[in-house]
Amino acid sequence: MIDIGINLINKRFPDIPEVIERAKFVDVKQMILTGTSLVATQKSLQWAQKYPKTFYATAGVHPHHAKDWDDVVESQIEKIAASPEIVAIGECGLDFDRDFSPRPVQESCFRAQLALAIACQKPLFLHERAAFDRFVGIMTEYQGKLPKSVVHCFTGSVSEAKTYLDMGFYIGLTGAVTDERRFGHLKDVIKMIPTDRLMVETDAPFMLPKNIRNPPADKRNEPCYLPYIVRYIATHSQKSEKTIMENTTKVTKAFFDI
Ligand SMILES: [Zn+2]
Repeated sequence: MIDIGINLINKRFPDIPEVIERAKFVDVKQMILTGTSLVATQKSLQWAQKYPKTFYATAGVHPHHAKDWDDVVESQIEKIAASPEIVAIGECGLDFDRDFSPRPVQESCFRAQLALAIACQKPLFLHERAAFDRFVGIMTEYQGKLPKSVVHCFTGSVSEAKTYLDMGFYIGLTGAVTDERRFGHLKDVIKMIPTDRLMVETDAPFMLPKNIRNPPADKRNEPCYLPYIVRYIATHSQKSEKTIMENTTKVTKAFFDI
């Protein structure tokens, strides 16, 4: 299995070699580290170089950090993006839920990264929260030019998922699917995502799956819990865990070219 999104550059991960060991023990063999800022991207690249073929990374700036985007950051991200360990641009997009950066600033940071992905022809790792209409509007402007794109940590509605699929996007599902109280509607989303468009991710250390029998006391999520997400998806798509594992791995390898 491959975890397409982990925030390894987080102070909650002082034990990275053990995190890898526990992941591999349950067959999560590869992980893609999410670049959420220039510093996180630089550090993620270093980890990917330290653990080749186990770690890969994305290069980008999360909408929360859009206010830090400037010419210097742009040229650094562009330079890092050329590294072979960098398998996607992002995470980038819009987050109108928290609004940690002003919306016009989020938009220009997002557009700059779309242009970068088009220029370097690497896939896009996208984040959209409470910004569906604007996000679709911007992506539509670039349609026909965009590389393959995955909307990660999808928690939207069935009709939003349908729009993304119609636009040709892939969908990344996290442990949010197991949170039936908050995201019960995702059961219906699971049923409608074709197997050739689905990928899985923990978004660790966040989004600890709710279906872990003995959850860790500190509630920290990590890649070794990816099988719980797969299990939940299998149950609700009426497919076997083996089928979901094999399909998501195949789709992920092709998407990120790893
Ligand atoms: Zn995100």
